[in-house]
Amino acid sequence: MKNKNKYNRIILKISGEFLKDSINGNINMIFIKNLTRQIQLLTKIGIKIGLVVGGGNLFRGSDLEKLGMRRTVSDHVGMLSTVINGLLLYEFMKKYNIKIRIFSSLNLEGMCERYRLDVVNSALDDGYVVVFCGGLGVPLFTTDSAACIYAIELKADILLKGTKVDGIYSSDPVFNTSATLYQTLRYTEVLNKKLKFMDYTSVVLAHEHKLPILVFNMYNPKILNDIIINNKPVGTLIYK
Ligand code: UDP
Repeated sequence: MKNKNKYNRIILKISGEFLKDSINGNINMIFIKNLTRQIQLLTKIGIKIGLVVGGGNLFRGSDLEKLGMRRTVSDHVGMLSTVINGLLLYEFMKKYNIKIRIFSSLNLEGMCERYRLDVVNSALDDGYVVVFCGGLGVPLFTTDSAACIYAIELKADILLKGTKVDGIYSSDPVFNTSATLYQTLRYTEVLNKKLKFMDYTSVVLAHEHKLPILVFNMYNPKILNDIIINNKPVGTLIYK
């Protein structure tokens, strides 16, 4: 059944930091439960959802490199961190009755299915929420790049990138009270103004493939409904 929402097929990028409770360092169950609730509502109306999970709450390759590790091995640790987060998200969402499957670009037989375009497309068409972990499976990339590539490959209507603030500002709103929130931006503006909301590899990829990205506040507990069901103009929309 085709529904009349603007975005029917979405990739949502979830940074690892959202999965960590900032007070006690444990898993942020409030966040996971809320995300599950929002996703349940979206799947009920037929929205196809892919979740790309980061690993920044555990390890990032660039941080480990600073400690003297080789970059490739550091990134392997980073990628495995995304697998840990992916499995946590998968398991909790399954427990809360989400029809869900987990795919990885890495060969993790017995833990995750191996990413293959046709298999993932069928899973989405069959109404499964799909979790992607392991990023692209190669070092020197981030899960933002993975989210862009999966969104392009799977022909998502939009890449949703949740952040801790309301969108992209003219300067850092924490330090500059007169910083203004952009409602829309062209990719060329993002590059010319050197606005940093994702690594440039991801921005260039999205630009080249005309993938729209919406940057918004992931801490708003109704944000996905606002974007997809209520069609509210929230966050910053970046388009070609
Ligand atoms: N990573 C990688 N290749 C990829 C995706 C991720 O090497 O295709 C590694 C990289 O070290 C990165 C870490 O995995 O720092 C965790 O991913 P990311 O930093 O994107 O997580 P987030 O900040 O979104 O939580």
